[in-house]
Amino acid sequence: MVQNEDGTDAERLEILLHKSRYSEDVLESTKLFIIKEPYFTLTEQGEPTLRIDHPSDLVICHEEGPKSFEDAAAAEKAATRFKTQGNNALKKQDLPLAHEKYTAGLAIAKQDILAESNPDLARDISRNRAYVNLLLGRLDEVKTDARASLTGREDQKSKELDSKAYYRAGSAAYAQSHWEEAKGFFLEQQKLTPDDKDAKLSLKRIEARLREEETGGYDLMKIRTNLSKARSRVDAGNFTKNTLIKDSPGKGRGLYATRDLATGDIVMCEKAFCVVWGHEEDTLTAMTYDTRDDRIRVAPVGLAKALVQKCLNQPSQTEKLMDLFGDYQGEGPQIFSNEDGAIVDVFRVHDIMSRNGFGPGSQFGEESARNASTGLWRHAAYINHSCLSNTTKEFAGDMIIIRATQPIKAGEEIFHPYDASLDYETRQGFLDRTWGFRCQCKLCDAEKEDGKEVRDKRMELVGEADAFIDKTPWAGAKRLQLRKAQGILREMDKTYDEGRWEGLPRRHTEGIRAWLVRASPR
Ligand SMILES: [Zn+2]
Repeated sequence: MVQNEDGTDAERLEILLHKSRYSEDVLESTKLFIIKEPYFTLTEQGEPTLRIDHPSDLVICHEEGPKSFEDAAAAEKAATRFKTQGNNALKKQDLPLAHEKYTAGLAIAKQDILAESNPDLARDISRNRAYVNLLLGRLDEVKTDARASLTGREDQKSKELDSKAYYRAGSAAYAQSHWEEAKGFFLEQQKLTPDDKDAKLSLKRIEARLREEETGGYDLMKIRTNLSKARSRVDAGNFTKNTLIKDSPGKGRGLYATRDLATGDIVMCEKAFCVVWGHEEDTLTAMTYDTRDDRIRVAPVGLAKALVQKCLNQPSQTEKLMDLFGDYQGEGPQIFSNEDGAIVDVFRVHDIMSRNGFGPGSQFGEESARNASTGLWRHAAYINHSCLSNTTKEFAGDMIIIRATQPIKAGEEIFHPYDASLDYETRQGFLDRTWGFRCQCKLCDAEKEDGKEVRDKRMELVGEADAFIDKTPWAGAKRLQLRKAQGILREMDKTYDEGRWEGLPRRHTEGIRAWLVRASPR
């Protein structure tokens, strides 16, 4: 329930799914909020409720907001009190509270009267808040705080404090995969404190990331060995330089090869922009009903929530994510933050996610349809679908690895199958429901031409082949069994019109052919 400021009106307020930030309840009692664009609706139980859809429309007011101080000593006392409260909250690992207290202290410490008499106080609080922000994943603010905390003085104590600030900024930039920026920070740190081991180690790691981005040379064995439930996100660079995003006629944008690639070559490698694993607490899928096309879909809402959180924590990432919203035709300049912080449109995030998410598989144990692992890879998301794909994808933790399955020439488009169902109707239906298009590749054209009767006959034979393979081990197969398999294959081949299917893969026959290869006497 929320009450208006003078306590006369109370309403039930809903912010669906986004009830917490940094694992803390957003709506703590006694807190004061500004609620933007609320509207009345009914809950599932039919009760009237006030609702907002975008968590960025809920702005938390800090009760003890910045008063204007006339007296420097009083200001210093007030700011110092907030700083101490922040430090105490940090000791107890109450990060949101520490952030709130430091923010309140900063608002006072930055006032002219105090900024003149004691500029170090604002620097100290900024440095502390940079640390809290690093732990909260508010990486943009880590960098601005760290910069604001720099003293630039030459005495040993000041140099050590500035070194600490550069380390925090560098760590934030590193976590954002901004290698050059991170390198800049760590080099500054090294200048101030040349013996610092952290700076040296970080610079070494950056060199490794830059090398990966330049060459695509990853130690995949080592990466895979180091993976665990607790360390499910890899420390690696993104190798995308063999590819380019550009317009793909009739398909929006697509990914193209910038140089010739051989079968087996890595086309691209990328760490997830965001991933949620089945073993993690907030990973859940849910049925969503889209009023725009009247369809019910299964959506990875846990991923949607994580994406929204990431955008709220790091407004600089929002624009990169929103670029995937291909249908967006622009309503003037896009604004992703204002004085109240980040602005995040959860519906757009949801749409981007539903069209661009991938499942990295259950790499860390059991998961069900209710908590399936899902993620978003920003560069790989531009790869268009084709049933006649030229790549295959694999995962190492949250890293996607796309490899060529056939030679790809420079300038050719990269494809992978979003759905590889053998049944034509199943496949087209899935593509249409999930991604809103029907495939018109050569394979689909041929199957369409074949007509329903032929396609049904073929699928019937696939069923027969599968049943045969299931109950007939290829090892030591009898002649009679070999003849039976050859018979099924012959029947399948008859369903393919030689002219129409010339050069096209007969995917339906793959299973029975593989069995025959293994079972046939050498
Ligand atoms: Zn197709």
